[in-house]
Amino acid sequence: MIYKPFQDISLSRLGMGNMRLPVEGGRDGAPIDRTRAQEIIDYAMFHGVNYYDSAYVYHNGESEKFLGEALKKYPRDSYYLATKFLLSANPDYKAVFEEQLQRLQTDHIDFYLIHAIFDNNCQAYLDSGCIGYFLEQKRAGRIRYLGFSSHASPRTLAKMADHHQWDFAQLQLNYFDWQYGTTAAEYKILEERNIPIMVMEPVRGGRLAQLSSEAEAILRKAHPDWSMASWALRWVKRLPQVQVILSGMSAPGQIKDNVSTFAEPEGLSDADTKILMRAAEAFKKQVSVPCTACRYCCDGCPAQINIPAFLSVYNSYKTDGAWALNQMGGVDSAGRPADCVNCGACTEHCPQSINVPEIMGELAGLSQ
Ligand code: SF4
Ligand code: SF4
Repeated sequence: MIYKPFQDISLSRLGMGNMRLPVEGGRDGAPIDRTRAQEIIDYAMFHGVNYYDSAYVYHNGESEKFLGEALKKYPRDSYYLATKFLLSANPDYKAVFEEQLQRLQTDHIDFYLIHAIFDNNCQAYLDSGCIGYFLEQKRAGRIRYLGFSSHASPRTLAKMADHHQWDFAQLQLNYFDWQYGTTAAEYKILEERNIPIMVMEPVRGGRLAQLSSEAEAILRKAHPDWSMASWALRWVKRLPQVQVILSGMSAPGQIKDNVSTFAEPEGLSDADTKILMRAAEAFKKQVSVPCTACRYCCDGCPAQINIPAFLSVYNSYKTDGAWALNQMGGVDSAGRPADCVNCGACTEHCPQSINVPEIMGELAGLSQ
């Protein structure tokens, strides 16, 4: 494992994300498969990963509880815990923080984040008083480093970044969003303020782990033994402002691949980056919906539609043809695309600004 200094400590470049832990039977919303998840944590600890990221709401609160149990057998100073406060889940920040300490079975959180800044919630966070309270907790030694995670526009990100001297920030950062979204501008904002970046979604919620056949052929020709995920991670490693690269690992094979990618310090070379961007261009032609399966849209859906699962079917349909619509029947979801009432609550919470109701309408028509 490779490491990078951060203030007075040293962090592994690879961080373990705990939003997509393996679940029983592989069904959406099922309880965490604790045996398999523990194997992943043990593999990570054994191979030197020392940064473990969770949040109050991951796996409906079970992620923090699982992590507290899974790491209990290791000395507390052998790993760093990161977790987050989400105002919309529970605005009582004092109670949430105490509950998180209990869930994680610890007396301090190493990296604490204001969770998921969007354009439409930034001011509410700033007005809530939570940041002042968490700064107090930092002075009391119950938080070591304070930061925030953002899905906001560059303008809102700059506003948040200028609030005070943050220790770090967390950004969705991958080669696809860099090339086709606003990520490069967001990176620059944090770089100019010298705020270290923890990277989330380096493989875009797994979407960049499997590209189109044309894009994969370009990359395999250059490095037959590299996985698609490893190309994505190597590219992020290039960026000097990046501190930890989180990967939400849900299977032992993924963590083995990731650990080997982080055995060497070099990021992607300039020549390989050019090849990757060629592949990205080929892939973009076939990607219809850039959903990362973050599920921020799901809780507010009155029709209880498993939105990311249907969007995944939609992408398969666009890439592979009409036969992929057969997967619709197998989607585990209380609501179906035809149940969509076009309320727009999903799009409002979507970091990728996906027009979900329009796609639900199209899927409803196609499945008739
Ligand atoms: S627009 Fe449709 S999919 Fe989106 S939240 Fe409303 S009902 Fe659910
Ligand atoms: S539609 Fe948007 S909010 Fe919903 S899972 Fe996909 S990326 Fe996340």
